Amino acid sequence: MDFEPSPRCTEFKERLEAFMDEHVYPAEEVYARQLRESGDPHHHPAVMEELKARAREAGLWNMFLPDEEHGAGLSNSDYAPLAEIMGRSPIASEACNCSAPDTGNMEVLHQFGTDEQKDRWLQPLLDGEMRSAFAMTEPGVASSDATNVALSIERDGAEYVLNGRKWWITNVFHPHCKIMIVMGKTQPDAPTYTQQSQILVPLDTPGVTVVRNLPVFGYVDQDGHGEISFEDVRVPVENVISKEGDGFMIAQARLGPGRIHHCMRAIGAAERALEAMCRRAVSRVTFGQPIATRGNILDWIAEARIELEMTRLLTLKAAWMMDTVGNRHARTEIAAIKVAAPNMALKIVDRAIQVHGGGGVSDDFGLASAYAHLRTLRLADGPDEVHKLSIARRELAPYVPREERAPA
Ligand SMILES: Cc1cc2nc3c(=O)[nH]c(=O)nc-3n(C[C@H](O)[C@H](O)[C@H](O)COP(=O)(O)OP(=O)(O)OC[C@H]3O[C@@H](n4cnc5c(N)ncnc54)[C@H](O)[C@@H]3O)c2cc1C
Repeated sequence: MDFEPSPRCTEFKERLEAFMDEHVYPAEEVYARQLRESGDPHHHPAVMEELKARAREAGLWNMFLPDEEHGAGLSNSDYAPLAEIMGRSPIASEACNCSAPDTGNMEVLHQFGTDEQKDRWLQPLLDGEMRSAFAMTEPGVASSDATNVALSIERDGAEYVLNGRKWWITNVFHPHCKIMIVMGKTQPDAPTYTQQSQILVPLDTPGVTVVRNLPVFGYVDQDGHGEISFEDVRVPVENVISKEGDGFMIAQARLGPGRIHHCMRAIGAAERALEAMCRRAVSRVTFGQPIATRGNILDWIAEARIELEMTRLLTLKAAWMMDTVGNRHARTEIAAIKVAAPNMALKIVDRAIQVHGGGGVSDDFGLASAYAHLRTLRLADGPDEVHKLSIARRELAPYVPREERAPA
């Protein structure tokens, strides 16, 4: 593996760093103020549309999409450092049209959508005119096992009828969110992995009710996490993605890149927290000495650097394997970074909070909200335990007779 970023990646990186310095970091305060002054926690601050226009103009747009025609045509290895840079700011990914869950939804539509689905939904998403949601998790079943997902999708002539309840559906409070990809059961009697389908459901379809927003540790995320009820929701059969029974396969396909993007952003957030920790530690004095001179603080700073480098290298290895041998053969590495990156970032942010004293848990330094957000990554896109289970099963496989092996 070559650790040298490609010339294309370096060129993007330089432009993105300049864009962050010139536009994104200065806009963070403006964004927070516009949101606060609106009095609506789900308000879409005007400064975001200005940032989007600038990012598009600068060619820093849809960088996540490996397809040359619709995206930047970057490999996972080339995109990794760019996602890390965007992860340094909570507003950068949306500014560059690279935020979840839209990225996963765009990839699914790009890979599996019909021409009509692409015209109607993919194009406005690529243009940043619309946002979208992915609805899989349900309050009624343990959804970290996707085979449990139970929302009913029944065929009735030229339509499907959906009944059930979802929760934690990110983005549905964003004023531009118009479409959801919903996962549910079309064939409950089929073999386990072909019971599910994924289907496009416009948010304004009769019978779709966004019941409430779910806060995260009391924080109301601007894009929201909705609990949604589906009561006799009718959509045309043409809205199914790929074909009936392909839901599980599509879910697997979208999660590889989605997971690695989360990890790269978490590394960026951790780098920024380490910078804040160092800045604070050299500027605060207790008992006659800067905090930065104390042994335990030096230890935290050194450990942070070591753990950041280890996680970044593992993430780059996963990206490199996805590029060279494919997502399927990179399963262990993808699962490993999905566990390692959020835990590493949480540890660093927690220590940065400690070094900031009371200020660390306030809203003044962005550390408390970073902690809340990063903590959710130990659950979203599969909890730590499920990823560890799949790693351990593959590790154990050579020692277990073939007929007794569990699916990894
Ligand atoms: C902020 C946030 C945003 C989210 N966004 C979305 C979204 O946009 N769309 C969407 O569909 N979902 C979303 N989710 C939901 C998320 O993907 C689920 O919460 C996650 O997959 C876990 O499912 P669950 O909550 O049903 O937990 P459960 O399946 O009930 O699991 C509970 C716990 O059991 C333990 N566990 C599970 N399996 C095992 C095992 N095999 N071995 C040991 N322990 C185990 C784990 O500790 C796990 O946390 C989001 C969640 C959060 C917090």
